[in-house]
Formats: sequence, C-alpha cells, structure tokens
Amino acid sequence: MDIQLEQIDRALQTAPDQHLDFLAKRDLIERILELRDRKNVLILGHNYMHPLVYQLSGHQERGDSLALARRAAETDKPIILFNGVFFMAETAKILSPDKKVLIPDPEAGCSLAEPFTAEDVLAYKERFPGAPVVTYVNSYANIKAESDYCCTSANALQVVLYAARETGSRQVIFFPDSLMGANLQKELQPEGIELIFPGKDDKKFGRCEVHEKFTRQHLLDIRKQYNIPKGAPDAAILVHWECPPEVVEEADYCGSTSQMIKYVADHPQLKRVYLATECEMAANLASEYPSIEFVRTCNIFCEHMRRITLEKILFSLENEVYEVTVDPDLARRSRTAIERMLAIF
Ligand code: SF4
Repeated sequence: MDIQLEQIDRALQTAPDQHLDFLAKRDLIERILELRDRKNVLILGHNYMHPLVYQLSGHQERGDSLALARRAAETDKPIILFNGVFFMAETAKILSPDKKVLIPDPEAGCSLAEPFTAEDVLAYKERFPGAPVVTYVNSYANIKAESDYCCTSANALQVVLYAARETGSRQVIFFPDSLMGANLQKELQPEGIELIFPGKDDKKFGRCEVHEKFTRQHLLDIRKQYNIPKGAPDAAILVHWECPPEVVEEADYCGSTSQMIKYVADHPQLKRVYLATECEMAANLASEYPSIEFVRTCNIFCEHMRRITLEKILFSLENEVYEVTVDPDLARRSRTAIERMLAIF
C-alpha cells in the first residue's frame, strides 16, 4: 500500500519545523501523490533527501543504495521515479531494463563517480593482473561494466573478502573511493589482503565531497559543545565509511547509512546523537525517533542530493521526463557485477 497524504501529515507532526514545511507544500505533495497513483509509479527515496521528498516514499521504498537497488529490481510497476542522484537511478535502470526510470534532475551527480572512466579501471587491471575488481555502487555503468563485483558501503568488506576467496587473490582492486579504501584496508590487515585503490600510490583520488569535510577536530568540538563523551551510554557520534580514517577512529561507531540507522534503532537508551554524514539524514531520523536529539551541522551537505525538489518531482511526473537510458551492452555487463552482489548479500 503506497503512502498516503494523511500518513505523511501524521509522521511529520513529531518534528514541528518539518510539519510547518509540509503544511506550506501540502497541495504540491497531494498533486504528486495523485500523479503517482494515476500513472502507477514507484517512488524511491534515498536517506539523504529533504524530509518532504523522503516522505513521498513508503517505508519499503526508502533507504540506502542497496535497499533501493533491491526494491527497483523487484517492482512490477511500469515507472520508477528515483529521488536520489544519477548513478542510483542508472543502477535502477540496469536492474529493471524494461521499466521507465525517471530522475527529477539528471544533473544530480556525485563527486565519487565523476572523475573516473573505464580506462582507469583497465589500467589498474593491467597493473595488477589476476586481482578482482570490486566497485562501489557510487560509480557509473562504464566503471561497473569493467568490474567483477559491485558493493555498497553496507557490504563492501564482505564483498572484498568474498572476491579474494573466490579468486584466490591476496590483492583486490577497489574503485573509486580513496577514503573508504583506506578504512577498508585497516579492516583487511588481519586477513592479509592488500586493497589497491585510487589515491593509494597515484594522484587520482575519489572522494565524497561531503564526507571528506569531516575532521577529527570537528568531532572533538561536537563532543565538547554537545556533551557527547566518547563511549557514553546515552550519546554517540556515528560516522560514515566515506569519512577520513582519523574521523572513523574518533567515532563511537562507523557504518553505512543503513547500519547507522540500525545502530540508532538498536540503542533505545540514546538521548543525543551526531551523525557525520549528509545532514538531511538526521532530519529524517528526527521525525522517526522524536525522543532523541539529533545534533545537526548543516553547513556540510550534498549539493547533488539537494537538486531533487518537490517542484522538479512534479514536473518529471507530469511530463514523464527525465528518463534514464543505458546502452544495452553496458547495462548487460554492469548488471553482472550488481547481480553478483545482490546474490551474495
Ligand atoms: S553524499 Fe557524497 S557520495 Fe553521496 S551523492 Fe553526494 S557526493 Fe556522492
């Protein structure tokens, strides 16, 4: 059952500022939901969307890249509207080639995905023959097509271990996130697996322009200002795998978007939480966990995610633009890497 206007109204009443936004945009939201029903559209929403955009998706249709990729693969609706960035909508199209996949703003990119081409992956394969290639989902189809496995931040470690085991290689090529590569390398040390990733011994980096901004000093300042001592039972700082290693070290917990949400759900004693990730995620969790104070520092945000607005969603649905297309051969080859991941985890 798709989410209804009254449910959005009720859900946002726990967050008064968000509810005021809802009342101001109620007519617009109602028109979007009408179009969704009339055209039989599945609306998927990433955790980093603005709360009003996020609320357009029901609980089964919101989440991180992995959850949304799975949902896109299993739907029988003819149209998918993807409220997220382009590589996510492209992944949905690869998994559902016979569906019409729309993105409200095709310019919604990603600093991790942009810098790399298929030639970069081919050059690494040539330098490290026999090493399997594991590619983070934050990449475009041309990179995935040259990869053996795809992964998300929720399963990157397990996919790398699986790839090493399956191929018998002690080296694994990991694209394109340099900071996540460094964080994973630490975890892989005991296993004796060497991770090869951009920026390790060359000058071409892949970094999330949001998560790279967090520093250890920033976390120490948050701890002091908001009274979140390290290891406190009722307060915690959670960080994303895409943050620098010294930030991960200072955190109380490090995980993917979905793992951070699970941490909050599994620790009902929490009273105050700081999430070192895109700031809208804290806004979205605030309405679900009204008893927790989510400290927000919204000078750190993703400008690509912010391109998705209610106005653009309405335009996209009304006119059935902007449709995502992928070259069939590229789609076939990248689907193999994505489906391997979905089959394992
Ligand atoms: S938050 Fe970072 S990884 Fe996610 S879309 Fe924005 S730039 Fe890319």
